[in-house]
Amino acid sequence: MAQQPNPFFSVVCPVYKTRHQLEELVDRLEAVFNELDKDFEVILVDDGCPEDSWDLIALLTQKNDFIKGVKLSRNFGQHYAITAGLDQSMGQWVIVMDADLQDLPEEIPSLYKKAKEGFQVVVAKRKERKDGRRKRWASWLFYKILSYLTRTSMDHQVANFGIYHAQVIEEIKRLKEQVRYFPALVQWVGFRQVKVEVKHGDNSGRVSAYSWEKMVDLALNIMMAYSDRPLRMMVKLGLMVALIGFLYAGYTLFKYWLGEIIVAGYASLIVSIWVLTGVLLITLGMVGLYVGKTYQGVKNRPLYIIEKKL
Ligand code: UDP
Ligand code: MG
Repeated sequence: MAQQPNPFFSVVCPVYKTRHQLEELVDRLEAVFNELDKDFEVILVDDGCPEDSWDLIALLTQKNDFIKGVKLSRNFGQHYAITAGLDQSMGQWVIVMDADLQDLPEEIPSLYKKAKEGFQVVVAKRKERKDGRRKRWASWLFYKILSYLTRTSMDHQVANFGIYHAQVIEEIKRLKEQVRYFPALVQWVGFRQVKVEVKHGDNSGRVSAYSWEKMVDLALNIMMAYSDRPLRMMVKLGLMVALIGFLYAGYTLFKYWLGEIIVAGYASLIVSIWVLTGVLLITLGMVGLYVGKTYQGVKNRPLYIIEKKL
């Protein structure tokens, strides 16, 4: 195969339950880049779509030579699909965006304009999120907790949508951690970063691919992967409980010595058993989760598996 010259822009879109938006997405991207008068590629990563988008992606790659299709062997999750897409990207500037048209292709020129002012990372800030209430609340809470745990200030109006210089993408690719969360990786690598306000597309009745369960799983994974603060909090909690326990033991012994203890104490016994067991279970669970994460890390599995490429 002839060596293709590197395109100026690469667009990485994870595709999962967004079959009906794909054709419009491709058309609108093409219009935007023709306007900018730069060559580009669009990388569509099929993240094990249940509705089988692959035949459509294959068709699109035949019709347009700027499209690359990558099919993962199963559903790995949005951030793994993004990783797979980044690994295939060749552009000087890489744009990461959702495939469901909630990230508007028409905002790309303003992101690029800002990048030209000398920023290697320009992320899109959604002034007014057009997601359902459930999603907005969950996401707000998640970003608050994550910011606290990682001692950074993550902004819930910023997600993956943005334009990233190839150098930034190279550095992100070097981060081999198993739990992928693109916005956190972007924050970590640094460089000159800036936010640009954009409009957010509404999800036009499409149900989000993130169920409650998927959201909570993702949140738990990310919080633990990017912070050891829960462990520290656990130790502090343990110390506090132990201190109270000691004081209470002293008090009880003192009362016993005074001869004030007869049979009473059932209530306090029961209470302390339940409270302490609860604390123990929580802390044990946390330790277990961390150990599990370490185990996963040690196994050093690939982050995703590509079944086909076009
Ligand atoms: N996505 C994915 N794998 C998944 C879930 C989602 O690749 O397991 C992609 C999906 O194709 C879309 C983006 O992630 O491009 C955001 O998904 P969605 O719009 O369903 O979620 P929301 O808008 O609620 O964040
Ligand atoms: Mg969406």
